Amino acid sequence: MLIKTLLNKVERFKSFVYVDARFQAVKGSEALVIDIKARRNSKPACPECGKRGKVHGLQKLRLYEYVPVWAFKVYFAYRARRVICPIHGIRVEDVPWGYGKEQMTFSYQVYLARWAKRLSWKETADIFLTSWDSVFRAVQHVVEYGLANRSLDGVTEIGVDEISVFKGHKYLTMVYQLNAGARRLLWCGPERRVKTLLGFFREFGKERSEQLKYVCSDMWAPYLKVIAKKAPNALNILDRFHIMRKFNEAIDEIRRSEAKSFKANNQVNVLEKGRWLLLKRKENLSEKQTSRLGDLMKLNLSSIKAYMLREDFQQFWCYQRYDFADKFLENWVSRTLQTNLEPMKKVAKMLRSHKPMILNWFKAKGRLSSGAVEGMNLKAKLTIRKAYGFKTIKCLQVAFYHTLGNLPEPMCNQKFC
Ligand SMILES: [Zn+2]
Repeated sequence: MLIKTLLNKVERFKSFVYVDARFQAVKGSEALVIDIKARRNSKPACPECGKRGKVHGLQKLRLYEYVPVWAFKVYFAYRARRVICPIHGIRVEDVPWGYGKEQMTFSYQVYLARWAKRLSWKETADIFLTSWDSVFRAVQHVVEYGLANRSLDGVTEIGVDEISVFKGHKYLTMVYQLNAGARRLLWCGPERRVKTLLGFFREFGKERSEQLKYVCSDMWAPYLKVIAKKAPNALNILDRFHIMRKFNEAIDEIRRSEAKSFKANNQVNVLEKGRWLLLKRKENLSEKQTSRLGDLMKLNLSSIKAYMLREDFQQFWCYQRYDFADKFLENWVSRTLQTNLEPMKKVAKMLRSHKPMILNWFKAKGRLSSGAVEGMNLKAKLTIRKAYGFKTIKCLQVAFYHTLGNLPEPMCNQKFC
């Protein structure tokens, strides 16, 4: 039958043959079932050690779900042999298309995982008439394979970032490789404590950590502490993305309290829906937004003053010379400290106390792209948005590794989709 020829082209198993293909009702719908048999003189392999041994009877017929064809679900049907292993005793043999009690074949898991990279997990489950949980297990399997088989050689530049998840109630610490042409998620772990980042360095290993040249991070104290200790040869840079994020947080805080006071005094809230207006860079505003910003500028608002201070600070990143940048920063900090904008003053103090690390940005100039961490952060946020149904940190971690880890895939030669 043609289907056998096709299967042998797609996937051929040594020691096993496709016997027949037939239609059969499986879980209430018609499915294509392919019988598999072991070659007559083959010996079953122990699942623990791989050693081949004598047959000790057969298991019941079992179905393993394979890659669907047209609108039909496809199953392999096989009666596994029990093998007598001299070391492990009597075991159910290892089969090359699946593992343990998992009902899905490796190929089907890879297939689902590939689709789950393009679609949300829920959409993938819906399209292939399977459960969300099956998609999760498929992705998890592919990720585990990828993590076990990836290379961590040549990592010299990393970025550490925090990302808030589950409506901002929890954090994950993300560690990215930032080397040009090799950007990927290296590691992610729950929370943002000293313990968290120590976890990364422990897994990464001492030798590799000593080879790190640049580490970009937030000014979050636990991170700085661990980086100083565990990456002794690296320049720790507080990069543009992380610093400008602090500015935005401060502007947002001022805007919120100002809007609140409008409300309390029964005044018109001129800042209504002004959040994005103030957080976006000027050049990214639409025409309408630019004119609205112009109107707001005429009013004596704290939010606008804070906004102007941020826009002014952008100049800092354009300096070519370290000493000029230093001078500019000092000047900006003194000016800001004279205002009554408390959240901005906090930013100013933070900049002053972390000045050497911020100026490291200029020492590494040309080496690190300003958008590297930001780009990865955006991709991570997109993953969260697509992650409808993710309820646990574990799920999110798997999803992040899957979409951002650039991991090697099992059966990468198979063209299922
Ligand atoms: Zn064994």
